[in-house]
Amino acid sequence: MKIRLASELQYDSIVDGEGIRTVIWTQGCPHKCPGCHNPSTHDFAVGFSMDVDDVKKQISSYKNQDGITLSGGDPFSQPEACYEIASYAKKQGLNVWCYTGYTYEALLVMAKSNDIYLKLLQKIDVLIDGKFIVHLRNLSLKFRGSSNQRVIDVQKSLESGAVTLVTKYQQINIGLDLYEKPDYIFV
Ligand code: SF4
Repeated sequence: MKIRLASELQYDSIVDGEGIRTVIWTQGCPHKCPGCHNPSTHDFAVGFSMDVDDVKKQISSYKNQDGITLSGGDPFSQPEACYEIASYAKKQGLNVWCYTGYTYEALLVMAKSNDIYLKLLQKIDVLIDGKFIVHLRNLSLKFRGSSNQRVIDVQKSLESGAVTLVTKYQQINIGLDLYEKPDYIFV
């Protein structure tokens, strides 16, 4: 299986989720939010293709990573490949964060016609959901660009049937505190 990427995998990121992370930059996004910080990732026809097995090998080769982050682009535009990668990461003891322009609720509706969306959600610990809305942009937000976006504990949300937020990241103006492994990371 292949995945279309916007750039090479990035390891040791400290800005794309909690801890030290390997980021997978997917190519292609249908949302085209005005003011998007990464418009070069919108076109599904550009970027480059990589075998998912090679992505897995690269993930395994990076040392001292807490997790992976699926970003883009929109990872939910390539759900099968992202599911394979997220499943592999979980087996390696890594936690999984994912950015998407879809809302969590929209993904659950999509899952009714194609269960790959639910399968991918079941491998994600933390989802940052929703489009970037330029007039809600706030530089004080941690791990998200606009205040409509939510930092969601996906497994608690699936269990309870209601969106459960990672409360500390919904706050504004929080400082750069020391990394502590939170209880939503199942490693
Ligand atoms: S969902 Fe993300 S990558 Fe896609 S257009 Fe919006 S901000 Fe850009």
